Amino acid sequence: MSHTEELVAEPLATQSKQPARSYAAKEASGALGPWNFERRIPGPHDVQVDILFCGVCHTDLHFVRNDWGMSMYPLVPGHEIVGRVTAIGDHVTKFKEGDLVGIGCLVDTCRECDNCKQDLEQYCMGGATYTYSAPEKKEIGFTYGGYSNKIVCDENFILNVSDKLPLEKVAPLLCAGITTYSPLKNWKIGAGHKVAILGLGGLGHMGVKFAAAFGAEVTVLSTTASKEADAKRLGAHKFVLTSNEEQVKAVQNSFDFILDTVSAEHDYNFYLSMLKTKGAMVCVGLPNQPAVVPAFTLVFQGRNLAGSLIGGIAETQEMLDYCAANNITSDVEVIDIKDINKAYVRMEKSDVKYRFVIDMATL
Ligand code: NAP
Ligand code: ZN
Ligand code: ZN
Repeated sequence: MSHTEELVAEPLATQSKQPARSYAAKEASGALGPWNFERRIPGPHDVQVDILFCGVCHTDLHFVRNDWGMSMYPLVPGHEIVGRVTAIGDHVTKFKEGDLVGIGCLVDTCRECDNCKQDLEQYCMGGATYTYSAPEKKEIGFTYGGYSNKIVCDENFILNVSDKLPLEKVAPLLCAGITTYSPLKNWKIGAGHKVAILGLGGLGHMGVKFAAAFGAEVTVLSTTASKEADAKRLGAHKFVLTSNEEQVKAVQNSFDFILDTVSAEHDYNFYLSMLKTKGAMVCVGLPNQPAVVPAFTLVFQGRNLAGSLIGGIAETQEMLDYCAANNITSDVEVIDIKDINKAYVRMEKSDVKYRFVIDMATL
């Protein structure tokens, strides 16, 4: 069958469209700029959301630059979305017009595989549909993210957002929040644990807040000396500057758990040696290049090295509810959309306190 015949056979492209506005990257080497496009009109199970704030994740920058070789252009980044419902499909039961909602990294999954059935949609075996630069399941084309004025999404991938917290500080919870909450919960981190958060950026600062809230003794491992006071204000008990040999020596074999949020290439072995016997280092940061991990560092102290991807939809709602109940939000720098390229330059230099969030009213 030719490609054209396949398209005719698929009943996917028939939904009507509506205009939308965004900031997009047109190519890997280019800056983001204004771009008009079309989104689908809400189907029976869809919710339409006017986007109020969108966080800026380092993954957005990885995708804009095509670091992982999977970007599709024009690319509208953004998966830390909060907004207000403006329209719902006929069969929508969970939301109504006017509701405050959030959308994170997932907008669809197969819903049938073992992982989807166990609320682990992020690990969908049928292929999760990510919020941007992912092939659409129900229509031709690929997804466009939250650096835009509106988004249309199946109700099963939409989260309830409390009106008690400032929305700009809630937006980063949709990715940075759940990505750090989920592994800390999975590894049952709490009182009596010595936890290190590696990298004090968007993910790292949320990791500090959650680990401290769960009762752990928290140490920040950082390359940036000037972040020490902030680390302690955010809830860390100790701070280790990783270029300081004495400070590094003092934490050898000392942590039960390390959460590695580093976005760039780094020496895993250097940090693994800070784990106690049977301790675990969980990677959430996604450097472009593979790392070398000597089996000796793991084997001789029975150490664990693991990974973790965002969190499922139910766990994301649990995290948002936990944050609303415990007054936990992100520390943000709110920016105009026209300043997004400057924000990327600063993020790349580890210079953000501690998440940029775009005020979408400036689009
Ligand atoms: P970010 O705000 O830029 O923070 C990264 C931090 O890593 C920096 O602030 C810096 O902290 C540290 N760092 C940077 N370069 C380093 C180096 N060469 N060596 C050691 N430390 C370094 O980024 P983010 O938004 O938190 O994202 C972090 C990573 O997680 C990215 O790779 C992103 O794609 C990934 N991510 C993964 C998931 C998931 O589900 N697994 C979800 C979201 C994001 P210091 O100044 O304290 O050293
Ligand atoms: Zn993210
Ligand atoms: Zn699935």
